[in-house]
Amino acid sequence: MSKEISLLETGRMLQAAESIVLCTHVSPDGDTLGSALGLARFLRQQGKQITVFCDDDINKSLSFIPGIEMCQRPVEGSTVTADLLVVVDASSFDRVGLVADVVKPKVLLNIDHHISNTRFADYLYLDDKAAAVGEVMCDLFEAMHWQMDEEMAVCFYTAISTDCGSFRYANTTPKTMRDAAKLLEYGVQPNEISDCLDIRSRATVELLGKVLPSLSFACEGKIAYITITNDLYDKNAQTDSFVSYPRYIDGVDVAVMFKAVEPEVIRVSMRSKSVDVAQVALSFGGGGHLRAAGCTIYAPVETAREQLLAVLSKLV
Ligand code: 5GP
Ligand code: MN
Repeated sequence: MSKEISLLETGRMLQAAESIVLCTHVSPDGDTLGSALGLARFLRQQGKQITVFCDDDINKSLSFIPGIEMCQRPVEGSTVTADLLVVVDASSFDRVGLVADVVKPKVLLNIDHHISNTRFADYLYLDDKAAAVGEVMCDLFEAMHWQMDEEMAVCFYTAISTDCGSFRYANTTPKTMRDAAKLLEYGVQPNEISDCLDIRSRATVELLGKVLPSLSFACEGKIAYITITNDLYDKNAQTDSFVSYPRYIDGVDVAVMFKAVEPEVIRVSMRSKSVDVAQVALSFGGGGHLRAAGCTIYAPVETAREQLLAVLSKLV
């Protein structure tokens, strides 16, 4: 069980540490990377010894994030000591991958915004009203009177924009937009960031063409789902936006993407208009937000689909 701390206590904990490891979650997105890298840049400028770990491949579309070259993969069997390990944007410890084994910190701090947070760290700063950890970073800099620069602003804008679907999702609040507006004052060009985030490889778009025919419906069209079977699965394709195709169909409440990364390892992405999919994901050992959540089901794809659709059918 974590001790929940205030923003000021979070800031002071970061200030007090000399050696800090920041870490993202696996399947890294713009929020975990932008938030971790913007904070890493600031702390490095303060003369601290900073390491950034990301135990996964990083999508090419995120390679523009300032400081992305700081990201290292933890090496299996190695040991890294630090005053502080900061887990950014991960609601459970299994989301950090090998970092959990490699890093031996004196203190473990989690900065997060997931309603499904499992309180795994020694200390937790959780703001489940924030659309992104990027918003938390804006609050932190303001509370601590830390000086931001344009690169940090790009990092945090990318974080916010990613998690609120470019200010279109239900988690977008007046504060989300105010934070974004303040970041623009530092010189962030929203069109440039959106172009970077939306760029896709040819292989990705070609895969989409093969995946869309799998579109199926359940519960009188209230559930729509697509499937990337293991024979279609391409590690290098960026499939995170595929779930928006079933999501934006008229009458659909819950959209699901099943992705067979192995024949019996099925990554599930859920998006919903009213169902609490975070609860559904949690019941399968995953997590997320009310309207965007995910989990992994260890079964053949047909079984995984049956199991998940059985639970969802009772909720729509
Ligand atoms: P996505 O569908 O884009 O992979 O994930 C949607 C949301 O659910 C994200 O906020 C992500 O962090 C969370 N999420 C996805 N998969 C998992 C998982 O396996 N475990 C946990 N704890 N959260 C997940
Ligand atoms: Mn996030």
